[in-house]
Amino acid sequence: MLGGLKRWKDEPKMGSDLAFACRCGQLRGLLRDIEPAKVNCSACCCAGCQQYARRFGYEDILLDEHNATTVTQIAPSAFEITQGKEHLACLQQTSKGAYRWYAACCRTPLVNTLWTPSVPFVGVLMHACVDAQSLEHPLPFYTGPVRALVNGKFPRKQAKALRATLWPLITMIARLSVIMMGWMWRGEHKRSPFFLPKTKEPILPVEKLFLK
Ligand SMILES: [Zn+2]
Ligand SMILES: [Zn+2]
Repeated sequence: MLGGLKRWKDEPKMGSDLAFACRCGQLRGLLRDIEPAKVNCSACCCAGCQQYARRFGYEDILLDEHNATTVTQIAPSAFEITQGKEHLACLQQTSKGAYRWYAACCRTPLVNTLWTPSVPFVGVLMHACVDAQSLEHPLPFYTGPVRALVNGKFPRKQAKALRATLWPLITMIARLSVIMMGWMWRGEHKRSPFFLPKTKEPILPVEKLFLK
């Protein structure tokens, strides 16, 4: 999963529109204009991501050998649902946890966001909702490689090899900040399919699992 940081051969000069869908196909959409320069790929080992993958029976699909979930952060405006929006649902596992948006028709994980659109990225769980087999190139061709492995504890040597140390995290945050400034410059953060532009509230009620 953790490819080299070298630029991919034939790295695209233009973005691609990638199709995504839930497992049963009722909710569909497009990830617009995806190219390595405009997105950020990270992998998260946190307990919340693991719990979520297991809750939906997606551990084999979402968790790698280090129990990490690969998340591709894209601009909010780049995530477009073209069909079946009525099946979109959202849950939150802890009071500070991510909003986890999924297709309720067949319980397919789609996207993680923060609980506020102020930090605007939309983290797509590509492994769950993009059919990599149907793409012309491997997924990292479009998303770039995983730039840092976060929230994991590994022995020092292994951590370095996995990019789970502080330095890759710092450089990734710096890089993502620059990318997000580009989205904000172009107003792409305002066109979120998940939050109402005026109130900044989520577009639908979020199921709060921690209150139960
Ligand atoms: Zn479905
Ligand atoms: Zn996580």
